[in-house]
Amino acid sequence: MIKIKAVQFLRMENVMKRISIAIDGPSGSGKSTAAKNLAKLLNIEYIDTGAMYRAAALKAIEQGISIDNDSVTEMLENTEIDFSNGSILLDGVDVGDRIRTLEVSSMASRISALPGCRRKLVDIQRKIASKKSVVMDGRDIGTNVLPDADYKFFITAPLETRARRRWQEIGERDGVSLDEVREDLAKRDKLDTTRALDPLVEADDAVEISTEEHGIYETAELLRSYVK
Ligand code: C5P
Repeated sequence: MIKIKAVQFLRMENVMKRISIAIDGPSGSGKSTAAKNLAKLLNIEYIDTGAMYRAAALKAIEQGISIDNDSVTEMLENTEIDFSNGSILLDGVDVGDRIRTLEVSSMASRISALPGCRRKLVDIQRKIASKKSVVMDGRDIGTNVLPDADYKFFITAPLETRARRRWQEIGERDGVSLDEVREDLAKRDKLDTTRALDPLVEADDAVEISTEEHGIYETAELLRSYVK
């Protein structure tokens, strides 16, 4: 009886393939919500790589680290960034509720342009995806982190739409105006698309989807329809 179960398990292992889904796009495009919902629909893990850069940025702010490659690389040599049950852990502490401020957003964009920072975080991201099926979202997932991903999507929306969405999320809480949020997003778009290393560009083989047309919640269903 036990033997039969072991054989059945081995057969299942042979047919169950690990899949990776890469989702990229600019800030506020709705890619994280779509990615999270898609992971739920497929019952696989969601990895928010932006949260990893934000966690590194939070530590740099709190420790007053100078934003140059050597200092940030040294800080990250003594830093653990990981996920547990969907929560982002910085040195073992859940920092999910502290990484969504404008200050951390801007610092994440600056710190993510540094080669030492990208090397360390991309390494962690690839290790995670080598062990389990994932929906991973970010800026360079389809082009750099997982160039052989089984599915690639590029999620977009016009700047004005993205700014309004973000402002509705954080405007009142952080006391920031729509103009400030729009300006921050435009600045981050520029940094993300023009940096020398792993800039935000659409992979040639990605499917482009606008959340302006589909709405954020319908987008996950739409992505699901592409996954066989
Ligand atoms: O996606 P999110 O807005 O949380 O990402 C925060 C910042 O981290 C981005 O503005 C971007 O500069 C950086 N990032 C990156 N590469 C990724 C994910 C995020 O450079 N894969």
